[in-house]
Amino acid sequence: MNNKTALITGSSRGIGRAMVKLFAKSGYNVLINYNKSEKEASELYNELKSEGCFVTLYKADVSNVHEVNSMIKFCIGEFGKIDVLINNAGMSKDKLFTDITNEDWHEMINVNLNSVFYTTQMALKYMIPEHSGKIINISSIWGMVGGSYEVHYSTSKAAVIGMTKALAKELGPSNIQVNCIAPGIIQTDMINNVSDEILEILKDETPLMRLGTPEDIANCALFLASDNSNFITGQVISPNGGFVIT
Ligand code: NAP
Repeated sequence: MNNKTALITGSSRGIGRAMVKLFAKSGYNVLINYNKSEKEASELYNELKSEGCFVTLYKADVSNVHEVNSMIKFCIGEFGKIDVLINNAGMSKDKLFTDITNEDWHEMINVNLNSVFYTTQMALKYMIPEHSGKIINISSIWGMVGGSYEVHYSTSKAAVIGMTKALAKELGPSNIQVNCIAPGIIQTDMINNVSDEILEILKDETPLMRLGTPEDIANCALFLASDNSNFITGQVISPNGGFVIT
């Protein structure tokens, strides 16, 4: 077993999947969390196991506090501690604000925001006594600058930024760093509904002239998880190719 353990939520697909691969191959024990994509998660688990990595797999809906608590206890049982918590699981939905139903609103807030409260509060039970830990929350550029047709998504992601900043202040004396990654437009299933034409326009509007890859975000997370970032807390880092510069 490795010395350090990372729990990465929503890691069956997309950005979380890339993070799992990078962390597992960089000397971390990794808990792969999935909710609906059991096949993809099992394939990832088997692939990494066959390469000699220390990974484990857990099905949990992160918007359900009981399932989150069980997942974190399971992780402690498997690996003994949690050094890095990456709150990556998330959903998006394009909808005109006036069409958003109460159900839509609550689902978005439950999956993208309440989940971060549940996982973080539970993980801290194990991090605070160790006087060490790294929490990395995945927000979005739309949480920084707001996205039309995505008000509920933008709201949830802006709240994650606020939570990161406040928690960083509270947890600094416990030597726990809390930071946020706010990705730009990244090529995953999440942007499957965006037409090729719009994607070309978005590329043109990006100074680096391309969309992001899940690996671009995973590399940033690996840095924030490492000792190289020990003096960084409460910050929002936005790998977005220059699409948003604040
Ligand atoms: P994705 O390809 O759609 O993958 C989403 C992941 O989240 C899946 O592994 C999914 O697991 C998991 N997930 C969703 N709801 C869950 C729940 N209730 N419980 C547990 N896991 C859940 O999306 P992605 O692009 O990788 O997005 C990852 C994160 O980056 C999200 O927080 C997203 O908001 C953020 N982000 C993405 C972009 C982008 O352009 N792609 C930009 C900015 C920010 P299952 O399939 O197993 O349910």
